[in-house]
Order: sequence, then structure tokens, then C-alpha cells
Amino acid sequence: MSVFTKKKDENFMAWYLDIVRRAQVVDSRTEVKGANVLMANGYEIWDRMKRILDEKFYVTEHKNMYFPLFIPDKFIEMESTHFEGFVPEVAYVTHAGKKKLEEKFALRPTSETIMYHMYSQWIRAYTDMPLKVNQWCNIIRIDTKDTKPLLRDREFQWTEAHTCHATPEEAVKQVEESMWIYGSFFDECCLPYLITKRPKYDTFPGALYSIAYDAPLTDGKTLQIGTTHNLDQGFAKVFNIRFQKEDGSHDYAYQTCYGLSTRVIAAVISVHGDDRGLILPPYLAPLQVVIVPILFKGKEEMVDKESKAILEKIKNANLRVKYDVSEKTSGFKFNEYELIGVPVRVEIGPKEVEKGGVTLARRDTKERIFVETDKIIETIRELFDKITEELKDRAKKLLEESISDANTYEELEKKFKGRNPGFVRTNWCGDVECADLIKEKLKAEIRGTLYGEDEKPFGLCVICTEEAQEVAYISKAY
Ligand code: ZN
Repeated sequence: MSVFTKKKDENFMAWYLDIVRRAQVVDSRTEVKGANVLMANGYEIWDRMKRILDEKFYVTEHKNMYFPLFIPDKFIEMESTHFEGFVPEVAYVTHAGKKKLEEKFALRPTSETIMYHMYSQWIRAYTDMPLKVNQWCNIIRIDTKDTKPLLRDREFQWTEAHTCHATPEEAVKQVEESMWIYGSFFDECCLPYLITKRPKYDTFPGALYSIAYDAPLTDGKTLQIGTTHNLDQGFAKVFNIRFQKEDGSHDYAYQTCYGLSTRVIAAVISVHGDDRGLILPPYLAPLQVVIVPILFKGKEEMVDKESKAILEKIKNANLRVKYDVSEKTSGFKFNEYELIGVPVRVEIGPKEVEKGGVTLARRDTKERIFVETDKIIETIRELFDKITEELKDRAKKLLEESISDANTYEELEKKFKGRNPGFVRTNWCGDVECADLIKEKLKAEIRGTLYGEDEKPFGLCVICTEEAQEVAYISKAY
């Protein structure tokens, strides 16, 4: 019997939970609900993602900084008197040992308050802006919903960027720059995504508007993998980020913020993985190439010598490679490296040595090709590009196939009672009552309207049959 017993198509969540544990991405046996170990493979994928994003933050002149985990309770109070924020999910430190603290601290559920408190001390004049700060850190939210590793955690790693600008126009431009940063990053991760403007009632507390990036998964649900908010002057007024303009008058800063988390890892795994394990874009894979010797009695030395020579060659080309000389059978090794998603396997046996080359096997398609020794590096690089392109194509196809239209409530209901609803595009009057009905009856949510495109309604509101104001995208979301 195969060791790969969980079928992605049959039970997506059972498959996902099994794969993230066995591929050593996450171990959730910590006895702390929603707080897991990001294992070496998960951590390294996150590290690669960080490098890609940091490069983009660098070219767009963001500065990385680190702000405290502890947030004075009074800041949370200041925020919550103005906006309905994260209060129900905030964790507090109330004691030092057995002694009660005079002032309790919140553990950051997000860093607006502490950052903006500091910004108010840094910004005096329009010349102090734009201020563009990014922070890599962990976030703590006592989510009362069911936790699922990387999909919904109580503690997770993320990036949050917070900017200040002298005019509302610059804030809008910053929103667009963030969309380029995240969009091109998701493209490099080979992810499908839809960018929507969230409905007013689902806008981030205190924001003018919110934009979200949602990835369709193969089980017909969607996953929010990032958000951007135009905060306008809401927070600046609460935290007094006030500055002098060129003409000498005063104004409050115009702000934006955007964030994404280790959920992106869950999206990559969910979109591309198969019953045998992870399938990773080569530039994200912790290990890019594995050399597996095929040993025959009496030929071990010859194969070992050639494998070592190939190992050096690949190492010198700056690729992340491992030569597995352990005692396990080659079949066992194949399974193991397929499980963790190594994009290319190099097989070297007596036959390959005699023919003066190696066999390369692709993780994603299982395709195997023979290449001569002096063509190995160039062929591996070509394969990496090819795999990346094909994963991008798969992502694009998944997105296209996940979107469908519903003209009537009956059609909408049929889609959400069916197996693979994805994003359903339909007409909506814009009233929260109709959105609530969709939530109640279909367990689905209005994700919003397509950002930057003024789609014209193609019928009446699917719920109340009044005149529709917009074309809404509805999905079941994680
Ligand atoms: Zn309606």
C-alpha cells in the first residue's frame, strides 16, 4: 500500500493537515492552540518569501524597522474609542510573576497604535514624508474560531507596512504601489489571486477603503492572502500625526498600511501540492535539487565518484543541492524528496555513468530526461524556468475556472450547495441585509468588487431583486 493515503480531491483538509506535518512545514503538537512550530521547511519557504519581498521594499524605498511586542493598553483604548478594532482578540500581559502590573500590556494584534504613536513624534513637516516603514514580526490574536496551521493561527509571522503621506493623492499612489509589490510577489509564488475592494461594512476599522487579495484553492473555497488599506486621516487624527505644510498651514498625515502572512505558504501548498506532497516553485524551494545514486553491487564506487563530481558542479552554480548517500533504498528516497517538494531530482546509476550523463526527474510532472554531464547546469536552470512558467499557467487556469456567474438566487444557491463554488460573480444592491442573507443561507461571503474595474451589473440584486449597484464576487472563505 502506498504511504500516500490522503487524497487531495477526496478530503482537502485531511490532505492538507497530513502534508504540512509530514513535509515538515509545521508541527502543531505544542499543546498551545493555534501556536505552532514553523519547521525547517516551512521556515525556509518563509525566508525565501521574505527575500523576494525585501527586494521589492528596497527598490520602493521602504525601511525595515522593529517595534515592541508590548503595546500599552491605553493605545488600544485610544484606538477602540474611535474604531471597532481588534479588542475581542487581544491578549494581555497582566502579571509579572505573581505580582499584578499597574498597567497591563497588550501583545500586538497588529502594530498601528504603537507605530503611529512613534510617527507622531517623528513627523513635524511635509519634508518628513513620505515615511514608509515595514516590519517583519509575529502577531498574536486569540481567534475564537477553529485554528488550522498556517490558515488560521493565534500566533503567526507576517509583514506589515505602514506609510504616511502629505496628500491624499500620494496615499492613493501608495495603495497602488503596494498592489504592485504584493501582486508581483504572488506572481513569483505562482499563486492565483483576485484583487477586490471590500464592501464598506467589511472595511478595516478606521480605513477609507480596503483592498484584499484572495486566492482560490482547489477545494472551491478561497483564502485571503493579503490586504491593503487606505487609512486616510482616521488614525492620524487619533494619534496626532500632524505636520506643517509648505504654505505654513497644518494638516494630519494621510496613511496606508498593508500586510501579508505565512498564510501565503498555505496557499502555495494548497494550490500546487498533490497526493505525493508539496510542489514548490523552484525559487521558493528550500532544497532545489537532490542527487540520488542508483546503486548496483560492484558499481558503488563508480557511481559515488560521479555523483560527487556532479554535486560540486551544481553547488558551484549556486543551486541548493543535496547528495543523499544514506542507506535507504532509492525508491524510499524518491518518495521522501517528492513529499518535501524538491523540484528536480538527479538520478545517477551505472547506466548514466557509462552514457556520460544523468537522468533528471521533474517533481511537478514526473517527467524524466537524460542529459549529458556538460549540459546539466543549463538544463536544470531551463527546467526551473519551465516549471515556474507551468505553475503560473496552472494558477492562471485555476483562477479562470474558479470564476462563474449567477443571475438568480436559485443559480447562486446551486453553486454554493455544489462541490466547487469558487468565486461566484453576481449582481448586488449593495445593502448589508442582502449580504447577511447570503452569509446566513449559503455560508458564503461577499468578497467585494473587482478593484480598478467598473463592472456593470448584468441583472437585478440576486437577493432582493431590487436594482443592482455593483457586480459582487462571492465565495466561501477560510
Ligand atoms: Zn439586495
